[in-house]
Amino acid sequence: MSKVKSANLGYPRIGEKREWKKALEHYWAGKITKEDFLETVKTLRLSYLKKQKDLGLDLIPVGDFSLYDHVLDTAVLFGLVPERFRTDEKEVSLETYFSIARGSKNAEASEMTKWFNTNYHYIVPEISNDTKPYLTSNRLVALFNEAKEAFGITTKPVIVGPITLLKLAKGYDQDHFQTLLTALIPLYVQVLSELKAAGAEWVQIDEPILVKEQTAEDLVLFQDTYQTIKNGVPNLNLLLQTYFEAVDDYEKVVQLPVDGIGLDFVYGKEANLAAIKTFGFPKEKVLAAGVIDGRNVWKTDLSAAFQELKTLLGFTGGNDKLWVTASSSLLHVPVTVSNESELDPVLANALSFADEKITEIVTLVNGLNKGESAIETELDKNSDDLLALQQSAHRNNNEVQEELSQLGEELPARPGSYRLRQQIQTDAFKLPPLPTTTIGSFPQTTEVRQARRNWRKGDWTEEQYEQFVNDETAKWIQIQEDLGIDVLVHGEFERNDMVEYFGEKLAGFAFTRFGWVQSYGSRCVKPPLIFGDVSWIAPMTVRESAYAQSLTQKPVKGMLTGPVTIYNWSFVRNDISQADVFNQIALALRKEVHALEEANIRMIQVDEPALREGLPLKDEKKADYLHDAVYSFRLATSFVNNDTQIHTHMCYSEFNEIIDTIDALDTDVISIEAARSHGEIISTFEDFAYKKGIGLGVYDIHSPRIPSVAEMKSYAERALKVLDPKVVWINPDCGLKTRRIEETIPALKNMVEAAHEVRKEL
Ligand code: GLN
Ligand code: ZN
Repeated sequence: MSKVKSANLGYPRIGEKREWKKALEHYWAGKITKEDFLETVKTLRLSYLKKQKDLGLDLIPVGDFSLYDHVLDTAVLFGLVPERFRTDEKEVSLETYFSIARGSKNAEASEMTKWFNTNYHYIVPEISNDTKPYLTSNRLVALFNEAKEAFGITTKPVIVGPITLLKLAKGYDQDHFQTLLTALIPLYVQVLSELKAAGAEWVQIDEPILVKEQTAEDLVLFQDTYQTIKNGVPNLNLLLQTYFEAVDDYEKVVQLPVDGIGLDFVYGKEANLAAIKTFGFPKEKVLAAGVIDGRNVWKTDLSAAFQELKTLLGFTGGNDKLWVTASSSLLHVPVTVSNESELDPVLANALSFADEKITEIVTLVNGLNKGESAIETELDKNSDDLLALQQSAHRNNNEVQEELSQLGEELPARPGSYRLRQQIQTDAFKLPPLPTTTIGSFPQTTEVRQARRNWRKGDWTEEQYEQFVNDETAKWIQIQEDLGIDVLVHGEFERNDMVEYFGEKLAGFAFTRFGWVQSYGSRCVKPPLIFGDVSWIAPMTVRESAYAQSLTQKPVKGMLTGPVTIYNWSFVRNDISQADVFNQIALALRKEVHALEEANIRMIQVDEPALREGLPLKDEKKADYLHDAVYSFRLATSFVNNDTQIHTHMCYSEFNEIIDTIDALDTDVISIEAARSHGEIISTFEDFAYKKGIGLGVYDIHSPRIPSVAEMKSYAERALKVLDPKVVWINPDCGLKTRRIEETIPALKNMVEAAHEVRKEL
């Protein structure tokens, strides 16, 4: 009898205890030899394969493992090495590979950017108009053979497809796209033919670009490209894999000349399901159905998924035409729940990381192949676990739910218009024109981090730690006074991370021990879990802010992280809507804002650096997201008196799409990362005729370089060409926690000097 199969699209690289990260960093630091490094990562790679095999997975990926990033791997496979890193060797050495990713003594690293709407960053391939791609060494064949030799398994190699690769690359002109693609296709054919020769049966080609808006021409391009590839390797099965959303043009996509189509039935569920019901699914093709959430950490409702799969099975040409997968690579979730012994069992039992997700896939496949009764025990346990969390006190905070239900449709609004507030605040604060300020954090030195560790370990008492934070704060208030900065900050010395800090003080959050995911390169993040109803317990920032304010006559900004950023940088419960979670966080922050106002903190900054990155991939979903973001931000901030000044901060440089949203936040002042792309940003604000307070960063804090007075002056002058001097502030791009003191003080000194000089010209 033909069987449904279980498949994985990609497995996390980092290891249960971040062994991969450690190996990389040891190697970079010269602590281990190249041979030892390669041996260590090989052992890890094989252990991941073994684990997937032991979990009972039918189709195990290879090529998903990377020493840095899979997009870089693909670029390097085709010799797409930026000019400044090119050598005359045909192979791209490990040294060159890491230099592209991390920069070298003589050359700047390639840019990295977010992989679609995830928090994973890939290395942007750099291709010029006359780049001639060529095949370096076929790493996929090596990886395929390695798995075969070690475990006798026929794996499914994974590669980023040519169209996604080129569309994500930069440095060439659009009219060269076709030429470059034409040059790449035969190389793909060669890679695939060699895989076929080595014994591969299926290859997964990732073309996530298909979930973005596609024109008719784009689809012709796909048709032609895959026809050529197919003709080149007629006997190899190709799975065209999409994820993160529904495909844009289902009807055409499923007709492309490949042997299987992978669709996301979690993040693109509605549209993909509707499309399959309307247009059916080609009987000769495999449907890889991504019904397990590859990006979030909760157990799947297995009974629901089982029913859904049975529905999907009805559209395929038979059991052997269905694969069960996660909605995307499991790169985006931590490795395993099994090490989380310290979590509340009600929560732990409802979690599913990569290994557990694979088990879920295998379970569903067993059910489909052997009948539902074969997985009855699993289904029962699954629904018990999910129900237990659902019924727990964590998710049934009546007070929060009551407050939430009282919220009206109308956007919360400040008592006075911006114009009125501006007048009142100008009189109240008596700031000079072009006031200077910073974004919040000051250098998190080794001492600061050591102090926190001492306190966490219990070596220091609460009082000792508080005293330390106070002393740092006092030191930096004095430094800011001496520098002549107009609006001060307390420095955020008590914060490890701008989300974790609040998560630890609010109800509804939990923290794992090993729940790391790769962010970029060896850098991993451990997002908090928002698993219950979020609520405010006690003041979180008032003590630090009030202390700082007590030391100076100048205004000190209270400093909070906004609801949307807290949401976007956490793993979030999915049993209630995004808007409801935004608003729960906002209601909690509102109490903090209130407490700050009561403590006579007159300026409050609510940071939303991650607002833009949560923007949905599909245009039609953007408006709702932005509305909900604005609503929650205003819920947290707009009730304050007219003479309380609300600030926000964002740190990225593409504002075109969200300029109306920025305006709708109705903050009195926004500070924005701008130094790296000043011209572009200014025109956005100019076109919009932005009228409210705005600080366009005059200094790029990502670099240790100390910008000169002249440079910062020129940024300020540029801003003044289009903005009313009454609304312009002078500030760095972002917080300074990653900078050293020796870099920070002189840079701020120059910044203040620049502001003084520009003021004279007003
Ligand atoms: N207030 C925060 C800081 O200065 C803002 C950080 C950010 O925008 N990412 O560190
Ligand atoms: Zn920032």
